[in-house]
Amino acid sequence: MEPAAIIKAIKSCLPKESSSPVPLHQPSFSGNEWKYVKECLDTGWVSSVGKYVDEFEDQLQETTGAKFAIAVVSGTAALHLCLHLCGVKKDDEVLVPALAFVAVANAVSYCNAVPHFVDCEERTLGVDPVGLESYLEQTSEIKHGECFNKFSGRRIRALIAVHTFGHPVDLDSVLSVCRRFKIELIEDAAESLGSTYKGKYTGCWGRVSALSFNGNKIITTGGGGAILTQDEDLARQAKHLSTTAKEPHPWRYFHDKRGYNYRLPNINAALGCAQLEQLPEFIQNKRELSARYKKAFDDYLGVKFFQEPEFAKSNYWLNVLLLDEEYSHHLESILKLCTSEGLMVRPAWALLNTLPMFETCPQAKLPIAESLVRRILNIPSSATLGASNAQT
Ligand SMILES: *Cc1c(COP(=O)(O)O)cnc(C)c1O
Repeated sequence: MEPAAIIKAIKSCLPKESSSPVPLHQPSFSGNEWKYVKECLDTGWVSSVGKYVDEFEDQLQETTGAKFAIAVVSGTAALHLCLHLCGVKKDDEVLVPALAFVAVANAVSYCNAVPHFVDCEERTLGVDPVGLESYLEQTSEIKHGECFNKFSGRRIRALIAVHTFGHPVDLDSVLSVCRRFKIELIEDAAESLGSTYKGKYTGCWGRVSALSFNGNKIITTGGGGAILTQDEDLARQAKHLSTTAKEPHPWRYFHDKRGYNYRLPNINAALGCAQLEQLPEFIQNKRELSARYKKAFDDYLGVKFFQEPEFAKSNYWLNVLLLDEEYSHHLESILKLCTSEGLMVRPAWALLNTLPMFETCPQAKLPIAESLVRRILNIPSSATLGASNAQT
């Protein structure tokens, strides 16, 4: 377990002609991007109305198997509306994995609700359903068909399950805990577009789900996101709320609630349509790259390449090396050496409960998240790296 040897092993999986530095995750625009975006400019349909928004939503439905997809300006906006749609109100609590991107807890706070941090499991890097169930047995009670935190007295309305780095959580078990405790499941599938759990796509299991098409995600619209749901009424509400809650009318401006300007512009959707056409190819390339990493780190002392859980087929959005606990003190030196050697790598996010604005939020014991955050190293994962031949 030598940092220099780890870097050599990573490099052996990358194409010979890799640019330096090798980015962590780079978008690829080799399809119809120019054509579709040019059409928006040529026709003047660049903003919140246009055929690409509808087309993008149709394609998202086809790609994920969700009945309804509503395109919005970001993954964060999608999460915000998902919480709204699940009835999250001021002073409610929402269960959030401590190991997650800050947007998840931010979205909860936009609703004036309180994130309540829970632990994850090493098998998926996502929420641990077994730990969650026993935690809720100890800390919550059901009153009038709703779940309450016995200690804070606040209602626990929802759980946001994040499919971390593209790897699905154990959705059947998570769903059964949610049903037992009368909690709504929101999937954060921002990182897991195209990943399946027991043969069905992530994003189709929660009452509502959020996707992101930010520049670093598996497909990008520049910036963008979407809400997925199977529920026609929620889909209608999502579209209404994201378009300033304006009554459909040829000239009258009448808004029947406090809405948001969250609709994805046509020019971004055009980019999204071109990107979605290439999603199968991106996933194939990413899985090829991950297979090479897996081989390079098979039987490697002190570090393992994180693989999809047995019930899932992952998109391998961001590849993960997991250091053994006794070698976790090497993480800093590996990060340093990779940076100086032209490999863009990064550690996991700081746990959300350690951020100043969320420090005082309720939290479960977080032993696994605290261990994982010392041991996770994200390594170069662009789809283009998988496509070409590796050095070895
Ligand atoms: C990227 C991301 C988001 C937020 O998406 P934006 O489009 O950047 O707002 C939310 N959750 C997770 C897990 C993400 O990776």
